[in-house]
Amino acid sequence: MADTQVPSVISLKKSLHVRVMSAMGIVLSIAVLLCLALVINFIYHTEKDSWQSRQQEVSRSASRTVGSFMGQVREYLNLISLLDRRYLEADPQNLFKLLHQNPAFLEIICLDEYGNVFASAYRETPLLANLFTIPQSTWFIEAVAGRDYVGEVQVSATDEPYMILAVPALGGGVVAARLRMSVLWDVVSEIKFGQTGRAYVINHMGYVIAHPNREVVLNNTIIADRPEVAAALQAADNEWSGAYRNFENQDVVGVTMPISNYGWVMFTEISQPESLATTSYALLALGGGTLLAGFLLNLVVGRLLIRIVLEPVKRLREGAEMVGRGNLDYRLDGDRPDELGQVAAAFNFMAAGLQERESALAQARDRALAASNFKSRLLANVSHDLRTPLNGIIGYTDMLNEGAFGSLSEQQLSIVGRVLGHAQRLLNLINNLLDQAQIEAGRLELHYEPFNPAKLLGEVESITSFLAQRKGLELVTEIDPELPNTLIGDRVRLQQVLMNLVVNAIKFTEKGLVCVRVYSRGQRWAIEVSDTGIGIPAEAQEYIFNPFRQVHASLNHEIEGLGLGLSIVQELTRLMGGEIRLVSRVGLGSTFTVLLPFEPPKEGV
Ligand code: ADP
Repeated sequence: MADTQVPSVISLKKSLHVRVMSAMGIVLSIAVLLCLALVINFIYHTEKDSWQSRQQEVSRSASRTVGSFMGQVREYLNLISLLDRRYLEADPQNLFKLLHQNPAFLEIICLDEYGNVFASAYRETPLLANLFTIPQSTWFIEAVAGRDYVGEVQVSATDEPYMILAVPALGGGVVAARLRMSVLWDVVSEIKFGQTGRAYVINHMGYVIAHPNREVVLNNTIIADRPEVAAALQAADNEWSGAYRNFENQDVVGVTMPISNYGWVMFTEISQPESLATTSYALLALGGGTLLAGFLLNLVVGRLLIRIVLEPVKRLREGAEMVGRGNLDYRLDGDRPDELGQVAAAFNFMAAGLQERESALAQARDRALAASNFKSRLLANVSHDLRTPLNGIIGYTDMLNEGAFGSLSEQQLSIVGRVLGHAQRLLNLINNLLDQAQIEAGRLELHYEPFNPAKLLGEVESITSFLAQRKGLELVTEIDPELPNTLIGDRVRLQQVLMNLVVNAIKFTEKGLVCVRVYSRGQRWAIEVSDTGIGIPAEAQEYIFNPFRQVHASLNHEIEGLGLGLSIVQELTRLMGGEIRLVSRVGLGSTFTVLLPFEPPKEGV
């Protein structure tokens, strides 16, 4: 029992603490991550929707602003186109006055249906009026055909960006103008939202025609091949939104809106980091907060777990170890009102029960020991005291038998012979009892000396052969020539072993033979006694080596025994550092083999 160790160190993987904490950590992490994902997803969508609606609002109002600005400009031109030619020709200043009233125009010219300019006004330098190729110009051809014309962005010699507008005039003529682009740009530059939000306008061919950065327009930037432009131009009503990297290599979220009548598209863009600012902040704050909360929660729960469960469990284990080591007085604090309190109370109950039983057992053991001691002493003394008179009886009877006191009649000799036989058997029984008593008291000692195994075998044969003859059995002895002539052992006890086995073999064999072999077997030597007798049933082959156990007790044999022979043989064999083996089949016979070391065991010398 004491060999069973309680493991004091448990591997981390198996520790209850680690397992509970890991399970809790995993469940909590999954739950928190799920919640976090839901919250972040909600914030992300809310933020995205809010930016998108804001951008759409801005885009819509911006495109309205640009649209209405362009509308006003065209209205103005339409108004001029209605003026009487004679009024304009009468005083060139009339058109100049009209030009100066509207700062969006750089130049206004009025032409007849052949392309002849009959009135013109301009700021700085005239450009349209000086053209020789007016009749071939697209704007003239379009307007004279009755269609409004809106041109591309161009740059004058003085670096002034402009756009040509032309409308059909009363009487088949044309009113054309150069529109100052900077006015449109100002409108676009005004559009701002958030930190990074801004807008720009492209035309139906993908040219950027208005941008907060003038250079972009002045460089005639065309972005028709960009996916966001393609998507916007293809979308119904040019209304589109998405996240992309724009032509200036910035990651943005953009919304597009049409600017009516011109095929222009207004882009409003905001940088992606800004559009996700709240989400990123929420992710950071919530993530950090959750981590911190999780850490604190783990810490608190871990401490609680240790205090509420693991510490008491540890005390329980220590208690069990103490009790296991024999300290049955040990008691746990069982005052806790919970399940662990119940366990502690049950533990105390068990320890008290064990203590009671142990003291009862100790008393019983003491009584048994005292009784056994008394029995051993009684047995030893009685046996010893019986042997002395018995030896006397045997001695005198033997002398009678030998005729030392005069010759005896046939009948007297037979009676004396029987007395001698009975006395011998009685001495044998008493010797066995004494041996058993000494074995139980641990007082049996061996005396090692050199001896000749062949001689030993011969002695046993000469003593037992007449028993075999009496039963008509053949007694065969065999000695291994390989066996050394001299062995070391307790000759007297070895003879006792051999005698016991051979006498048993003869005793339990009715016909056939008894064979005794002594031979060498590897590191050991062996005594083997086999017979062709009644055999021993398998279930008895264990217990017949116990004292006072017999299988054939009910058989009425000539030589009776106490059931001590095999027990003494086994004990002697054990003391000599050897072992005894038995192979037996009922009805076929038995073979007892005693295996002994050549070298006597150290403690036995
Ligand atoms: P005892 O011979 O005094 O009865 P043992 O201890 O020598 O006691 O033997 C115990 C029992 O084992 C015997 O009573 C017998 O039943 C059985 N036994 C021993 N040797 C043999 C044998 N060679 N053949 C059959 N049974 C045997």
